[in-house]
Amino acid sequence: MTASTFRNYIAGEWVAGATVTVNRNPSDVSDVIGEYAQADAAQAGAAIAAAKQAFPAWATGSIQERANILDRAGNEILARKDELGRLLSREEGKTLPEGVGEAMRAGNIFKFFAGEVLRTGGEKIPSVRPGVDVEVTREPLGVIGLITPWNFPIAIPAWKLAPALAYGNTVVMKPADLVPGCAWALADILARAGLPAGVFNLVMGRGSVVGEAMVAHPDVAGLSFTGSVATGRGIAAKAIARMAKVQLEMGGKNPLVVLDDADLATAVNCAVQGAYFSTGQRCTASSRLIVTEGIHDRFVAAVKDKLAALKVDDALAPGTDLGPVVDQSQLDTDLSYIEVGRGEGAKLAFGGERLGKAKEGYYLAPALFTEATNAMRIAREEIFGPVAAVIRAKNYDEALAIANDTPFGLCSGIVTNSLKHAAHFKRHAEAGMVMVNLPTAGVDYHVPFGGRKGSSYGPREQGRYAAEFYTVVKTAYIAP
Ligand code: NAD
Repeated sequence: MTASTFRNYIAGEWVAGATVTVNRNPSDVSDVIGEYAQADAAQAGAAIAAAKQAFPAWATGSIQERANILDRAGNEILARKDELGRLLSREEGKTLPEGVGEAMRAGNIFKFFAGEVLRTGGEKIPSVRPGVDVEVTREPLGVIGLITPWNFPIAIPAWKLAPALAYGNTVVMKPADLVPGCAWALADILARAGLPAGVFNLVMGRGSVVGEAMVAHPDVAGLSFTGSVATGRGIAAKAIARMAKVQLEMGGKNPLVVLDDADLATAVNCAVQGAYFSTGQRCTASSRLIVTEGIHDRFVAAVKDKLAALKVDDALAPGTDLGPVVDQSQLDTDLSYIEVGRGEGAKLAFGGERLGKAKEGYYLAPALFTEATNAMRIAREEIFGPVAAVIRAKNYDEALAIANDTPFGLCSGIVTNSLKHAAHFKRHAEAGMVMVNLPTAGVDYHVPFGGRKGSSYGPREQGRYAAEFYTVVKTAYIAP
């Protein structure tokens, strides 16, 4: 451990971890961003104890102070969006404009929830018993454990943290191992924004150590997790066994339906943006392109042309359209699925090969499969890379049936000029979010986010709906 190691933040103090991890740039593996502390289970326990101690005062303290702190954090994130976006792109690999955009999103989320602090009302309802009043109010849960993935290193921590704090909870947050930099920057901003000691604690470290300690701890009242299905299922089983509240946002295999009557340019833009931007590493990425016969060939040709024009390169270089894959392990997964697709009989119509660049990084040419069926593994399993499969459909009805034939249900998109089909799809898509003539990825920050089936479990995140998870309802009866 060196003096410049980025430390954990527990009970208002920056503390060294049990070990350290080195954070590297996936665009250039020789570029070290920094050494970051790795907590052990005992340190996770210390963070939970600090959050527990801080809870009563924070839960019942001044809501003006809470609002001011969140607003200050939001303002600082927005003022530093270029620098934070650069850090994000450097550690995660999405392009600089995407990184800056994500930092802005995080800042706006803090400002939104600064406002929500002052808008958390209740209901007063007449009782069926004369002379009695009934009040329904919301109270914070207690200590919340936040476990976040690597693909949105600042936005996901922000969209969990801001409502958790706004509604009066205290927090222990464990970011993904690959992206501690943005989480540390957020902790630094919150520490300086005036949060009382223990209200927010950062414990960087391994999921199997720190994450498991948080999931098992009886003083963690609620767990909000975003990540893979397998990890989410394990967390849910353990959390529910001890009656903790749990919210899971997991994978997707999102369909984009393209109908014969679609505007071709809109369809191609939606497909390329939704499937490949952010290197396809978005839970809302459209990895199944379900295209009706009449437009199929024109669509495939135009998508290939567009892919050929994309520049895959260093995430920080001007003009880069797609940055690298996040790490060697994800690159191996992507490449192995490309082999799986070939083996299943799909045609690799574009890309799919590892790219050599001036700097050593995890570069992959965006891959497009055609002649895929919805039964193939490349159409059923989340790959989480720049890989999409085109599936032919005879007509709208068949396209809708294919779109819904998946264990996931995060986001479903359709490109069409038919009001009839758009309205029908909006109603019948089995997904938490539906897009009409828009990419499946790319959502607003002030409205509910989440899915159905295997994609999500528990209340929605973001916007006012975040209160469902971060508060508990109390019904009070009052007689004079
Ligand atoms: P992951 O499941 O490997 O890890 C997520 C987090 O869980 C990390 O912080 C990890 O350290 C922690 N963890 C791992 N094992 C744990 C355990 N046993 N107990 C407690 N915590 C543990 O996921 P990832 O690879 O970081 O992220 C990619 C996944 O996230 C993809 O499947 C993607 O679809 C999903 N994702 C979903 C959404 C959504 O909102 N639906 C958003 C972004 C990403």
